[in-house]
Amino acid sequence: MRSALALPRIDLVLCTRCGVCVSLCPGHAVEMADEGPHFARPLDCTYCAECEATCPAGAIRCEYAIVWAEDPPSPGGDRCTTS
Ligand code: SF4
Ligand code: SF4
Repeated sequence: MRSALALPRIDLVLCTRCGVCVSLCPGHAVEMADEGPHFARPLDCTYCAECEATCPAGAIRCEYAIVWAEDPPSPGGDRCTTS
């Protein structure tokens, strides 16, 4: 399950304010403001990475964290056996 705080990162230095991310976001999560695009509805972002793929300036990055799963339980569990 994705954290509600995990959002694409927008580099406003690289951003040209073209509006592509606003018009193509399937969740309508992004709106344009004077300073550039921002997440007006962050909970509507599904982290689909469409904005990262289509931004012509390469100003959006969808970063992913690698999370190691816990070791699976060993066959037979932790039961003690006697012979
Ligand atoms: S698509 Fe990229 S360059 Fe265009 S407004 Fe969005 S972040 Fe800025
Ligand atoms: S990751 Fe997808 S849903 Fe989220 S802002 Fe980008 S295009 Fe919209």
